[in-house]
Amino acid sequence: MPASVIAAEPPFTLVIHGGAGVSRKDLTPETEAARRKVMEAALRAGFAVLERGGAGLDAVQASIVTLEDSPHFNAGRGSVLTAQGEVEMDASIMDGASGKAGAVAGVRGIKNPIRAARLVMEKTPHVLLIGGGAEEFAREQKLDFEPMEYFITQEQKERLERVQKKARGQALAPQLADDFGSRIGTVGAVALDKAGHLSAATSTGGLTNKHHGRVGDSPIIGAGTFAQDGVCAVSCTGHGEFFIRLAVAHDVAARMKYQHVTLAAATDAIIHGELKKAGGDGGLIAVDSKGNIAAPFNTPGMFRAWMKSDGTMQVAVFAE
Ligand code: ASP
Repeated sequence: MPASVIAAEPPFTLVIHGGAGVSRKDLTPETEAARRKVMEAALRAGFAVLERGGAGLDAVQASIVTLEDSPHFNAGRGSVLTAQGEVEMDASIMDGASGKAGAVAGVRGIKNPIRAARLVMEKTPHVLLIGGGAEEFAREQKLDFEPMEYFITQEQKERLERVQKKARGQALAPQLADDFGSRIGTVGAVALDKAGHLSAATSTGGLTNKHHGRVGDSPIIGAGTFAQDGVCAVSCTGHGEFFIRLAVAHDVAARMKYQHVTLAAATDAIIHGELKKAGGDGGLIAVDSKGNIAAPFNTPGMFRAWMKSDGTMQVAVFAE
């Protein structure tokens, strides 16, 4: 290599989301500012890992832990409530290098479900643990637990009341009501690290007023989360039942591999095409092996943020 050519550092990138479904009427200037601030803190926490040459898996986990610890997002503390007024959480993580994945679903009390998902991947031969078995495993792994009150915020109590009142007003069975029009806050992160590995992770409390035991797409590998080295890493958010039926996260990778289309084309075709056609609302974040990113959504807004090794950074909510 001639002396004048400086070996470029491989590109590395982190993209995070804080949920699709938000509309302007859901946000006051204060709540929008507070959420943007947490998004930036989560982005920086993960990006710092990538910058020092750390693994993408550690980066996505660091971002998600920050968002789970904040009461402003629907994951960990601040999760939405089931019809019974409790918090049941889902999370998953996937390592694009090894193809391994871990997830937990319907868990209560685990302070950071994403840590439990990571340990399922690393310490068990399984991919997905649910409910009591997942909680028992998390205790064995010495993860932190919190009482139910830690997770339940006033904002989510009011949200549940609104949704249940709406159901009564429309004479709907209580479990048929939801707040699909103004959802907030599932969180996710995808990364391309300096070694060229792709990782993805997602964490959520699910949907307001969900049936006790309902599991969405977020802990389902291939639906809410997927990563494969050389292809892409994806984390979804939206009406989970549709993402499960369409295997959205894996479909992005499949389109890229079999149709040889770009990340942007693959993600747009799904979010604005297939998903929309099926009546599903939501969005996703994705990064490919070259560091290209995509963050399409078919809802009014989606909290999202990204930072690249070229120094660019942005936090966005609506089309901006
Ligand atoms: N996809 C999540 C679920 O259905 C919810 C969301 O992303 O807002 O559980």
